[in-house]
Amino acid sequence: MTASRRPSTRRTGASDESTAPAPAQLDLFPVRPVVDVLDARAVVGPRTGVEHLVRVRLRPNDAPHLVFHDRHGWYCDAHGPSCQAVTLARDEVR
Ligand SMILES: [Zn+2]
Repeated sequence: MTASRRPSTRRTGASDESTAPAPAQLDLFPVRPVVDVLDARAVVGPRTGVEHLVRVRLRPNDAPHLVFHDRHGWYCDAHGPSCQAVTLARDEVR
C-alpha cells in the first residue's frame, strides 16, 4: 500500500527562500553578480581536494560568498549547497 506518499518534499535545487535564480531572468537584476574563479590550490593549499573555488558577490558591494567544488559537490561556505551563489559559480566554471 502506498498510503502516504509525500508528493513534493524533496525538490532538488529549489529552496523556499525564492533566491534561486532562473537563468533566463538574470537580465532583470539591476546589478550583475560578480563572479571570480580563484585558484583553489593557492587559496586552500596545494594538496586540497577542492576542484574549484569561486568567489561570488551577488552585488558588487556585498560580502562575497565562497563557493567550493570538491568531492562532496558544490556548496557555499556560508550557506550550503542551496545558496544562490552556487548556481552562479557553476555557470561560470562550465
Ligand atoms: Zn552563500
